[in-house]
Amino acid sequence: MSDLRVTPDEYNHAKYDVEHGDDHLGVIFDETPAGLSRGGWAAWSPKAKRRDGIVGFFATKEDAAAAIAKTHGIDMAAPEEPQKNCVSILGGKVHGLTPLLNANEDDVFPRCRTGASSHQGTRYITTTAALTCSNCLAQEEYRRRARSAA
Ligand SMILES: [Zn+2]
Repeated sequence: MSDLRVTPDEYNHAKYDVEHGDDHLGVIFDETPAGLSRGGWAAWSPKAKRRDGIVGFFATKEDAAAAIAKTHGIDMAAPEEPQKNCVSILGGKVHGLTPLLNANEDDVFPRCRTGASSHQGTRYITTTAALTCSNCLAQEEYRRRARSAA
């Protein structure tokens, strides 16, 4: 689902092309400056049910892109992998997982502590259990807000 691309049109700054792989799925028009209550992102697809190609109007560009993809049979609401967290092999609080580039499966570190020195002597394993560490919960909340503000 990550290969859905929404790119601004070269010539029309209010228009976005929605592409998937080599296929052009449709276009989104940014009508947010008009402040319409129906949703400012207008989605258009050649496979829309309506003859005029309008898929609908959406509150976000992402929702509009997902709706366009759906007219092509691409379901962007596919379930994501369960969130992976981590916990010390000795037990205790469940932490967020630090994303590591080129990580080995064995490189598991809690997100709330940075600096490798603080991890020495403690091994962590991944878990799908819910976060219980207050630091990691606060960071998760912060990221959620940052995402929705974007
Ligand atoms: Zn933590």
